[in-house]
Amino acid sequence: MNIEIIPVTAFQQNCSIIWNDEKKAAIIDPGGDAPKLIKRIDALGLDLQGILLTHGHLDHVGAATKLKQYFNVEMMGSNSLDKILFAALPQQSRQFGVFEIDAFEPDHWLDKEGEILNIAGFEFEILHLPGHAPGHIGFIEHNEGIAFTGDVLFKQGIGRTDLLGGNHTDLINSIKQKMYQLPDDMVVLPGHGPHTTIGQEKLNNPFVK
Ligand SMILES: [Zn+2]
Repeated sequence: MNIEIIPVTAFQQNCSIIWNDEKKAAIIDPGGDAPKLIKRIDALGLDLQGILLTHGHLDHVGAATKLKQYFNVEMMGSNSLDKILFAALPQQSRQFGVFEIDAFEPDHWLDKEGEILNIAGFEFEILHLPGHAPGHIGFIEHNEGIAFTGDVLFKQGIGRTDLLGGNHTDLINSIKQKMYQLPDDMVVLPGHGPHTTIGQEKLNNPFVK
């Protein structure tokens, strides 16, 4: 898997562009800065197959509609429990004082725990990881040993739970019962900040005991 991480928006959200050796590609959490992302995907000569969304927060989905229109691809995820967040995107924009975007819904909700999403030559297992957002999901690529899990688990940190639909107990359960069951050498690419591994977080994360 080829990966390029492009931090987007004032929140420095880690948007990931991934592609295989045939240049089939997907983009995960395009939170904003659509022109920059489009330019980069075109410059790399990639054949974009779809847009994957971990959860319905503005800084993760803000450029999704523009990318969908430009590349004529579909959006997949998050879990439909995030409907309230997608509906509240205009309020989210005002709350954070950033660019205003219209409400939308993804083309496909990913509601089935453990279902496999095949895209761009990769196989992602879908895990429901509520707590930071009610419909938050993770995209786990077991063959590549890499997990795209948004704002659930950070390097020595965890996602905030004070936003709409957030729940601290759910978040800790998502980490302990699902993420910490993944192999220790699984690389975690979070929505913000540096990457880590499951093993490192089990040892060092001060918020999950
Ligand atoms: Zn978030």
